[in-house]
Amino acid sequence: MAEDQEMLECQECSAECEKVVYPAACLAMNCRFLYAFNEDGHTFFGCIEKVFPHEIDLQMFQDIERGKGGFGVVKVARQPLPQCSVAVQSCYAAGEGPLCRNLYFKRRDRREVQTVED
Ligand code: SF4
Ligand code: SF4
Repeated sequence: MAEDQEMLECQECSAECEKVVYPAACLAMNCRFLYAFNEDGHTFFGCIEKVFPHEIDLQMFQDIERGKGGFGVVKVARQPLPQCSVAVQSCYAAGEGPLCRNLYFKRRDRREVQTVED
């Protein structure tokens, strides 16, 4: 990994943490790396930089976004750009969080999405 590359996931303890991004933020800022296309009457959008690799059905996205909690996050697959709304999603058993050995990874993000799994 090149020095200027940030870690996208960490498994240095019994937990698993990974970087995620909010597609809603990509749309809200009208990021210049967004693209969209139509297929079978549906509009899909994605990220040219493939920070997230999926092409998302816009109608489905908007329907979920209106619901409680919104669409949420997708896993980051490639190095995020400065404008990407990046967070860290953590899966660990209750009580293991304070044992984090990689606080740089955990704190680098702007928000934390926590998924607790026993
Ligand atoms: S570069 Fe970042 S902000 Fe822009 S579309 Fe891709 S993930 Fe979203
Ligand atoms: S809790 Fe800390 S050490 Fe453990 S996987 Fe997450 S970032 Fe890495």
